[in-house]
This record gives sequence, C-alpha cells and structure tokens, in this order.
Amino acid sequence: MAHPLKHAQSSARKFGGKAEDYLPIHNWFDESKAQFADFRHRALRHHSEGIFLAEKLFGFTIVNSVGIHVPVRYVGEQHVREDLGRIPTAQDWLSEVRPQRWMYGQQLEERTQATKEEPL
Ligand SMILES: [Zn+2]
Repeated sequence: MAHPLKHAQSSARKFGGKAEDYLPIHNWFDESKAQFADFRHRALRHHSEGIFLAEKLFGFTIVNSVGIHVPVRYVGEQHVREDLGRIPTAQDWLSEVRPQRWMYGQQLEERTQATKEEPL
C-alpha cells in the first residue's frame, strides 16, 4: 500500500466513518517522503515510536464522522502494518544505518586530535 488515501480508505472500512476522517494521520506518516523519495522515508515515522508520536500529535483518539472514538494508535498500527507487514522499532531501522565518521560527532574527532598531541 502506498498512497495515504488508500490507507485512509482502509481505516474507514476497518473503523467506520469516511476516509477523510483518517487522512491527516496517514498524511503525517507519509510526509517524510518529502525528505527522501523512496521507501527509506519510512525509517523516520514507520515504527513503534512513530505510532506513539502520532498519538501525541493527534490525541489519544479521534472522533470519526459517525461519532465513534477511534484510538490513534490503532490507526498508526494499521498504516505501518499495511506498508511493512509488521511494526518495527526505531532500533530496527537505525541498526541498518551504515556508520560514517561524521556520525560520531565533533567530540570524538577533538578527543582523537588531543590524544595525538599528548606527549609520549
Ligand atoms: Zn506509509
């Protein structure tokens, strides 16, 4: 599943109401596509932490157009499962990042430099 509208239509079938009731949540999950145009954009929000962040942003529940309170977490879980087939953790994504020297930060480089300058 790719487009947020497809996820929203799926939410409406699952939880009731209209696709528009759920579109803001699904748009939020996929907004990271603006930063990275292929599937790797999902590393930013498509995980358990992203689902809990959605809950903080949209509230514990939303009320759909037929008056049903739907837990935002359930909507997030549905989105991530439809895209990935499971709910990974942020660690699952981050452990796939190939470390680069700059990622260690400035301090390591300064410390390394200071070590080189210390007398024997
Ligand atoms: Zn998605």
